[in-house]
Amino acid sequence: MEKFEQIFMHINGEAEKREKEQEQTYLDGLLSALEDTLDGVFSWQVEGATKEDMRKAIQIAILKGMRKGSQPNHQMTPDTLGLLVSYFVEQFFEKELQNRTISVLDLAVGTGNLLYTIMNTQDGKMQATGIEVDELLIRLAAATGDLIEQQVTLYRQDALDNLLVDPVDAIVCDLPVGYYPNEEVALDYELCATEGMGFAHYLFIEQAIRYTKDGGYLFFLIPASLFEGEEAKKLHQYLKANAWIQAVIQLPETLFSAKAHEKSILILQKQHKELRAPREVLLAKVPNMSNKQALAMFFEKVQMWKESK
Ligand code: SAM
Repeated sequence: MEKFEQIFMHINGEAEKREKEQEQTYLDGLLSALEDTLDGVFSWQVEGATKEDMRKAIQIAILKGMRKGSQPNHQMTPDTLGLLVSYFVEQFFEKELQNRTISVLDLAVGTGNLLYTIMNTQDGKMQATGIEVDELLIRLAAATGDLIEQQVTLYRQDALDNLLVDPVDAIVCDLPVGYYPNEEVALDYELCATEGMGFAHYLFIEQAIRYTKDGGYLFFLIPASLFEGEEAKKLHQYLKANAWIQAVIQLPETLFSAKAHEKSILILQKQHKELRAPREVLLAKVPNMSNKQALAMFFEKVQMWKESK
């Protein structure tokens, strides 16, 4: 059995036990098992397990818990997407990552899976902040962050309100999609709707740009239809004035259960007086992950674009 499977066995067994004995949900049982692990109340050991083993084991347990419950906002960014975003973060910050720590902000950190997938691949080179409105999810993110020993500061709040965060080098965010109910807060945004509720995903993009340093990069998982529809004109105008689109990467349909759930990766750079827009926007489609040759060609295309930038 692999190490992450052994860890999963321990925490899953404990979560199930607590679910039955204490009449909790599986996710609550899992959370208390993780918090008790940190406090030394519940102990288990898997010799030689890495941070990635730990993250993967917790990820599988959280997925199991989310499938059992049916909270619509309980969505975790899966590894395949996290690893692709991680690859792009590495490409855009190649030089910086060799010399210094970079600051990263995830405005919708959820369980932390996306953020920790990226942080584990760049171990020790990132200092991160995460914002999340859901209490259970942010506590899961906090316990996981402590267990895998990543430097992260978490705030439980509405990410569209004012934040106590200095502008960062990089934003990573799997955008929540839908309408944003707080019309008063939305009034502070150029992208607020002319009438009624506006799109949360638009406002998140605007908020992310506000909290990015000039010249910094933003990596979003966006709904594939983000730039479609009448409302999208406003988004285009806003982006044109504040950011440079670096890349739009389509993801394979096979990764999503339905057309409506398909996502793409959008990479922006916040404008900077002394920098210029890329000569060409990288438009590419990630092939089916099982096609190794096509995947190699995709990465080659990215490298060629990077060299010509
Ligand atoms: N990347 C996350 C992960 O790996 O678990 C998943 C992010 S999920 C697609 C979007 C998250 O945004 C949900 O956890 C949801 O609770 C959160 N969210 C939605 N609206 C929010 C708001 N106004 N402020 C903060 N978080 C919000």
